[in-house]
Amino acid sequence: MYDVAIIGAGPAGATLARLLAGRYRVLLVNKRRPTSSPESNSAGKCCGGLLAPDAQGMLSRMGLGLPKSVLVEPQLFVVRAIDVQQRIERYYQRYYINMDRRKFDRWLLSMIPSSVDIRLGCRFKSYESENDSFKIKLVQNNKTYVEHAGILVGADGASSRVRKQADPNHPFPKAYLGVQEWVEADSKLPYFSTIFDPEITDYYCWTIPKGNHLIIGAALHPRRDVFGRFELLKNKLRDYGFRFGKTTRRKGAFILRPVKTQEICTGKNGVALLGEAAGWISPSSAEGLSYAFKSALILAQILRKTPDGFEKHYYQKTRQLRRNIFLKNIKSHFIYDPRLRKIVMKTGFKSMEVYKS
Ligand SMILES: Cc1cc2nc3c(=O)[nH]c(=O)nc-3n(C[C@H](O)[C@H](O)[C@H](O)COP(=O)(O)OP(=O)(O)OC[C@H]3O[C@@H](n4cnc5c(N)ncnc54)[C@H](O)[C@@H]3O)c2cc1C
Repeated sequence: MYDVAIIGAGPAGATLARLLAGRYRVLLVNKRRPTSSPESNSAGKCCGGLLAPDAQGMLSRMGLGLPKSVLVEPQLFVVRAIDVQQRIERYYQRYYINMDRRKFDRWLLSMIPSSVDIRLGCRFKSYESENDSFKIKLVQNNKTYVEHAGILVGADGASSRVRKQADPNHPFPKAYLGVQEWVEADSKLPYFSTIFDPEITDYYCWTIPKGNHLIIGAALHPRRDVFGRFELLKNKLRDYGFRFGKTTRRKGAFILRPVKTQEICTGKNGVALLGEAAGWISPSSAEGLSYAFKSALILAQILRKTPDGFEKHYYQKTRQLRRNIFLKNIKSHFIYDPRLRKIVMKTGFKSMEVYKS
């Protein structure tokens, strides 16, 4: 019997496991194996791997510095924003850390003390409540078995199975399909590009240089000709002077976009939800790492102090985070409403000039 079972060893789950180790008997399960080779489909989360200033701040708050081994060239200080329909382009100074997401997840896992029972390649199927504990059904190597735990934490990302079972009627955030292709390219473009084009999506598309590759990504409506729209994006990028060669990898994953704070679900009846499973992700930029860390840190602090009634305390202590999502939704209007975006970009507000040699 475990005190806490955490489903999902992404940034949220791995952080919570690390912070609870030694105080509780913790089980951490993850269906993927972030330890396998990058080519393997089960290797890592489909992600841009940009560590935004808020996420950098969270690592500092947790007393962590980033190892050099997770970094990828080039480091980026500029965002190139392209409004395709209105033919406006601007550059903005930003401070991202460009990382290899698979290595980042492995690093987070490597810091978890050995007292935590970690099971990789192990899938959570369902749970049943039993008196004051949970009977948790897991599948590993095609075998189904059961573990017991007093508290169940769903840190299983955008398609959270734990959330679906714990609170099936809770309003769910809009889900986009994030598609990314790794194409061969030289890194002569030292910026992260964001592309706005309603012909492709009402959210956004991006390019991120990664070593000798360029990631081309888009958050697309999952049921509207995903492949056609992605090809359209690539053609439009060529028109903007992007040069790229062979595609070496293509991956996809859901991205949630909580447009109302009511869509965030922190859990109930002995179940807590963390990171994107709860809906913690920026609706304006799809930045999720800082929210994964913040929610894990808040829950860890509560469980370390007052485990009784933790669901209520966790809901209350995440008030600031909900407020933050509310404000990001206001900011979203200035980014995604074409008329407001045009005004912001035309004025050149906070933009900078970039001299190309
Ligand atoms: C295409 C794309 C690009 C993105 N780019 C960025 C970026 O550059 N910067 C940024 O900050 N954010 C980015 N995000 C968002 C960010 O990746 C997520 O918000 C963040 O990873 C959430 O962390 P998490 O720990 O909550 O969930 P996840 O990282 O999704 O981890 C969930 C874990 O749970 C496991 N799991 C799922 N189901 C089960 C199950 N049934 N049983 C066991 N294990 C399970 C998964 O294998 C996974 O390891 C991007 C998202 C996408 C889709």
